[in-house]
Amino acid sequence: MTTPHYRGRFAPSPTGYLHLGSLLTAVGSFLHARHHQGEWLVRIEDLDTPRNVQGASVAILDTLTQLGMSWDKEVWYQSQRVAHYETALEALTAQQLTYPCACPRRLTAGQIYSGYCCLHPPAPQSAQAIRLKVPAKNFSLTDEIQGFYSQNLAEQVGDFVLKRRDGIIAYQLAVVVDDAAQGITHVVRGADLLDNTPRQCYLQQLFAFPTPHYAHLPMIVDSQGLKLSKQNHAPAVNPQPAVPLILQALTLLGQSPPDFLKNSDLNHCWEWAIANWDSCKVPVLHQLSADIS
Ligand code: GLU
Repeated sequence: MTTPHYRGRFAPSPTGYLHLGSLLTAVGSFLHARHHQGEWLVRIEDLDTPRNVQGASVAILDTLTQLGMSWDKEVWYQSQRVAHYETALEALTAQQLTYPCACPRRLTAGQIYSGYCCLHPPAPQSAQAIRLKVPAKNFSLTDEIQGFYSQNLAEQVGDFVLKRRDGIIAYQLAVVVDDAAQGITHVVRGADLLDNTPRQCYLQQLFAFPTPHYAHLPMIVDSQGLKLSKQNHAPAVNPQPAVPLILQALTLLGQSPPDFLKNSDLNHCWEWAIANWDSCKVPVLHQLSADIS
């Protein structure tokens, strides 16, 4: 497979419809790709089946279509690729880089895992997650928008889960396998994932996969300072009429669309946005307020 000079992607989880925050990620990744004459792929990250909302994948794709954002190649669904993630996991296990963990999630969630089950292997019959051992080493990247970012995985993250107790493959493993399998060269996504990136860089090293170029877009917070998310019931965007919505996204991305675009059609709006995309204008701050009414 020849690697294109630029292949980007938008990888929504179908846990709800597109809201203004996920729309920004879609628009930012689309414009970044098209401005660089790159390909833009869509991948539905639907592994976390308990959180999937029925009909959300179709609705997300329909919204993108109505907004005039067409993708290249066929859409990938992670739920159809589980065998690939299992193979990748087996490769790490064969190198003794993983271990089973029976610690209940309520004791470990949001904490740096102590490594208890690495020292005290659980009885084989108990429900087990699979964790990756991490080194006490800094993993750094230079993000196009957020700048230099570094994390010591052992000190700041701990051995992390690759497969959950309920048998579901964790996001970190699936995203790394798929970004490599799809030949993704550029990852443009929300800044809430910046602190996941060193874990992904480590996995890429273990698999000898290339590390893509990263650009993390700022998050939008609502009037209470809460991140817009499906979990806090951010309203779904209405793709009609499309032009004002795209102009709102462009404004939030710091692109200062000119007034005359208000009266233009969708094609002209995208033409302007693609030609004038400038990631230097995207606000660096993780949080920016938006009137989401
Ligand atoms: N599926 C993730 C989300 O919807 C995005 C993952 C990524 O872009 O790496 O938040």
